[in-house]
Amino acid sequence: MFLPARTEDGVVVREVVARLQRARAVLVLTGSGVSAESGLPTFRGAGGLWRHHRVEELASPEGFERDPRLVWTWYNQRIAAHAKALPNAAHSALARLEERISDFTLATQNVDSLHLRAGSADPVELHGNLRHARCSGCGVRRELDAFGLPLDEIEHHCGGRMRPGVVWFGEPLPQEAWERARRAAQRAEVILVVGTSAVVYPAAALATQYARSAYVVEINPEATPISERVDSRLRGAASQELDAIARAVA
Ligand code: NAD
Repeated sequence: MFLPARTEDGVVVREVVARLQRARAVLVLTGSGVSAESGLPTFRGAGGLWRHHRVEELASPEGFERDPRLVWTWYNQRIAAHAKALPNAAHSALARLEERISDFTLATQNVDSLHLRAGSADPVELHGNLRHARCSGCGVRRELDAFGLPLDEIEHHCGGRMRPGVVWFGEPLPQEAWERARRAAQRAEVILVVGTSAVVYPAAALATQYARSAYVVEINPEATPISERVDSRLRGAASQELDAIARAVA
């Protein structure tokens, strides 16, 4: 079995691997920490600020109402950064793990499409994605390329506005995505919570409130509000820990 260098983590990895090998149903919940090693800043890592604006203000219906061009300028920069970024070893380890487990659900809070690009078949995108925009008036969808949405095309001819296809702070999650993730949490024998500060609800509740009998593992270099409630913790980077796990499970 491939073992990471650090002994303490090695013991936990052995336990996690053994559980994954036995498990029929697994849920993985990922957050922006999974994409940090692809060069995409986490909200916390970026200090929660962009050009002196708080990200919670930009990523909100109120922020968009106040200044849609500012909000699209920010999203267009993120879209360009996503297009340049490459999936890292954490994304590809999860795509490999998926092939070994019959009932495997990957639910992500990320909007960067890196799980799809790494080969994950059907990730549940809890917070939507930046591959498309949609009209807040008539609901029409528009696919976006690496340039995002031209600022002079924000106003839609129906009278509404084109907005990013993501879930903003204060908005409900897409019903179908949430149901898939919630049911997967209930079925899961193992849940991996990777690279999320576990403060954005209801996504964070999947591993705590909705899980029935799952063995829950947190993979994050830092402690989070759920750290004390999980069964084990791996404190390395997502790429290192997941690569070790996927190699050993294979
Ligand atoms: P967050 O920014 O609140 O927290 C990121 C977490 O990742 C932190 O706990 C940090 O310790 C951890 N982390 C950092 N580097 C890591 C690594 N190499 N390996 C493992 N963990 C690492 O992000 P969140 O919990 O995902 O919630 C914030 C919201 O912002 C979510 O909706 C999220 O999708 C969104 N967001 C998405 C992206 C993206 O799509 N790439 C980027 C920024 C924020």
